[in-house]
Amino acid sequence: MRLARTALELLLASHPVDCAHCLKSGSCELQSIAKHLGVKLKTKRFAKILPELAVDTSNPLFIHDPNKCVLCGKCIRVCQEKVGRGVIGFGYRGFRRMVTTFGDEPLGRALCQDCSECIAVCPVGALVFKEKSQ
Ligand code: SF4
Ligand code: SF4
Repeated sequence: MRLARTALELLLASHPVDCAHCLKSGSCELQSIAKHLGVKLKTKRFAKILPELAVDTSNPLFIHDPNKCVLCGKCIRVCQEKVGRGVIGFGYRGFRRMVTTFGDEPLGRALCQDCSECIAVCPVGALVFKEKSQ
């Protein structure tokens, strides 16, 4: 339990905790896990360092905000194994590791078919439908 709390606090140290403006708030697994472990989302145990990655709004249906990504890989897996497309994968290393497309093409221009399977499996606010944000 102590290890799980520390792992979560480290993850939260690089997560933009902005639940009040996040479309996933209320159904976010990060919120649920924090509650379960008794960890405050705005924990100050570790210094906050945010990756400040560009948000991709190029797809007409959804937004990809890599700053909120927890690198679980579920979107990559569903795109590859269920949809059979393999449009997205992990790119870069260390602190800049992120879900991206071949050649970093924006999702609006990549081979994405807008099937929304990745949005359905994303546990946090990294992949969310656009219309909910308006
Ligand atoms: S992804 Fe979850 S924890 Fe992060 S800002 Fe959105 S609701 Fe809050
Ligand atoms: S499913 Fe969401 S949190 Fe997990 S790797 Fe994909 S974008 Fe990131």
